Amino acid sequence: MAVISINSFTGKVIEEIPETQVSLLPSLVQNARSASVQWKALEVGKRVGIVNKLIPLLEQNKESLAKIVHEEMGKPFNQALTEVDRAIEVIQYFAETVPKAVEEEVISNTEKETNILTVDPLGVVACITPWNAPVQTPIVSILPALLTGNTVLFKPSEHTTLTGIALFRLFEQLHKEGLPKNALQLVIGGKDVGKALVNQNIDHVCFTGSLRAGKQIMKDSSEQLHRITFELGGKDPAIVLKDCDLDATAVGIVKGATRNTGQVCCGVERVYIEKDIFDAFTQKVVEHAQNVSVDEGNNPEADIGPLVREFQRKMVEDHVADAKEKGARFLVGGETPHGPGYFYPVSVVTNVNHSMKLMTEETFGPIIPLMAVDTIEQALEYANNSNYGLTASVWTKNASLAADLAGKLVAGTVTINRYGSSKIGCPWGGAKQSGIGRLYTKEGIREFCNIKHVWVNKV
Ligand code: NAD
Repeated sequence: MAVISINSFTGKVIEEIPETQVSLLPSLVQNARSASVQWKALEVGKRVGIVNKLIPLLEQNKESLAKIVHEEMGKPFNQALTEVDRAIEVIQYFAETVPKAVEEEVISNTEKETNILTVDPLGVVACITPWNAPVQTPIVSILPALLTGNTVLFKPSEHTTLTGIALFRLFEQLHKEGLPKNALQLVIGGKDVGKALVNQNIDHVCFTGSLRAGKQIMKDSSEQLHRITFELGGKDPAIVLKDCDLDATAVGIVKGATRNTGQVCCGVERVYIEKDIFDAFTQKVVEHAQNVSVDEGNNPEADIGPLVREFQRKMVEDHVADAKEKGARFLVGGETPHGPGYFYPVSVVTNVNHSMKLMTEETFGPIIPLMAVDTIEQALEYANNSNYGLTASVWTKNASLAADLAGKLVAGTVTINRYGSSKIGCPWGGAKQSGIGRLYTKEGIREFCNIKHVWVNKV
């Protein structure tokens, strides 16, 4: 079996890459266990010193890596470069933070006894990642796993395998710096290979991807009670209040809904607007949506590109068709263009309601559904009426009202006057079915660790 890397702009095959044979997975896990003996014995500062050498490698290879991301995923080139820069910042963050997070702590120390908390690696971690940020997401999950002394099996998405391979080749260059062979291994394949990986004798699954896959992984992990960190999907709401800065909010909503062509876990996927400003706000959103620039393969500075693949476009088309059938009105977009590649236009839609997939299921496309609400309470009720809870945003000049809504919204992150995103160093994860556990922060780093109590009686 092989995975096929495709150019999102043209639909043409870039390369076929053989999958990792499932029968080889037990030996890969065994290799990882053997490597972990040497790796975890290294003092954390030494591990940081070795992994930090990835930074100059990423700097040197930034353009070539960004080119692969651009072609294989459809991201405009400059945004692909920015993604690599961000990955470098993530490494810097973990290099600074992991040593503090794994420091042992004396809980109590009396004449009779001492109680100490130690932070040990778990063992072998599977990092399974999606395609929509194919450099940054692997770095965010591999780094805390490795730096805390675990060894890692990394399975990139089958849609961005070439990016995963390019990243893995850079990690391989760390062997000469002291990274033990097999401390990081690459597993290539789709969901069947991923499922087989989860069923191995591993210790932790750090999974970023869809809710559907997350549920399956949770079932499979229950066999061996793997530790899990899940970063899943969202259907993130925005609440727009009548006192907001109309222009800035419209710009923020359009950007929040369309960045990465809407393929962001924390994309703005539904907007609730106080009815007094609905018409004026809608007009502003339409204006800004019409100004979103599209990279058709030769505009590196553009705002958006194509969707990643046909399956993703079909999902968007399905949500749009369902909404149209139920009375939605498209003011901008809403039709699949002809021609090669997986393009879909930025679309602004009104007359939407919660009977539509567009308002209840993750769409993952550049669609902006706008819904008028009579009261703020109604907006809050709609916003919280979802199985998801990744991010939620509130747009208003009234700081105390914003704080009140921030307290009542059920989400992993609430943003005021900005769209949701992760911020390096702040906890990142989902409420409800958007995830389990957090990335970043001491708590997030310790998810890759066994917290041990050492209880010493003084004799
Ligand atoms: P996906 O769930 O289809 O696949 C993600 C990864 O899991 C891939 O590597 C895939 O091969 C693998 N996989 C799929 N089924 C599996 C199984 N049963 N066992 C083991 N591995 C399996 O998701 P996708 O389409 O690649 O990515 C889009 C999704 O990821 C969206 O839902 C998006 O919201 C989510 N996402 C979340 C975050 C976050 O931080 N919360 C970040 C990025 C993407």
